[in-house]
Amino acid sequence: CGITAFAGTTPALPFLMQGLEKLEYRGYDSAGVTLVGSQGLTTVKARGRLATLKASMEGGCWPQTAGIGHTRWATHGIPSNLNSHPHTNETETIAIVHNGIIENHQAIRSFLEDTGYRFHSQTDSEVIVHMLDYYYKGDMLEAIRNTVRYLEGSFALCVVCTDFPDTVYTARKDSPMVLGKSADAAFCASDIPALLEYTREIVAMEDRQIAVLQPGEIQLYDFDGRPANPVWMTVEYDV
Ligand code: GLU
Repeated sequence: CGITAFAGTTPALPFLMQGLEKLEYRGYDSAGVTLVGSQGLTTVKARGRLATLKASMEGGCWPQTAGIGHTRWATHGIPSNLNSHPHTNETETIAIVHNGIIENHQAIRSFLEDTGYRFHSQTDSEVIVHMLDYYYKGDMLEAIRNTVRYLEGSFALCVVCTDFPDTVYTARKDSPMVLGKSADAAFCASDIPALLEYTREIVAMEDRQIAVLQPGEIQLYDFDGRPANPVWMTVEYDV
């Protein structure tokens, strides 16, 4: 699938959409975005190609300056509106997009259902957002660290939450994610072409890393929470 995310001081949607367009070769079962703003999370998603999502948002007012986007290549659960990403927790305070396969999703789902969580999709991905909700006590980085410890399989994921409306979190293991920044924004995406209109200075995240994106700023950690040094490279070519 294709993931895009933006944390900046100007509207997030243009970056999210142009990036998803460049990544649409990675999946076109559905597309969706979540924007974070003073009104909370706004999630719009639609089965089918990105053009359907685009048409449904056209003419709307989308001033939010942070958000996440996804085009899906369904592995668990049919292509449908309900199975489209982003997925949100019950109180709609946390949203995630996921690329990859969570091999042990059934075991996690059973645990969470026994704890009282209700699921709305058949995807393996939805366990991630409820796990984050389960572990979240005010520190999202810590909730992500606790969650990724239990995820088996492959994932690249992005997270937004209403408590930190200017921040996007991302983590990866065995699925790609690249980061970039400008003076007043930070971006991430599944592949380099999604970033090139905005920046040529990029970081390919390593396996088992978490990044915190804020306007003009990126912090990188390993899964144990130790700060890591980003390795910047300049992309000279055009795609
Ligand atoms: N396994 C997830 C799903 O089926 C993510 C698929 C993807 O990478 O697009 O929803």
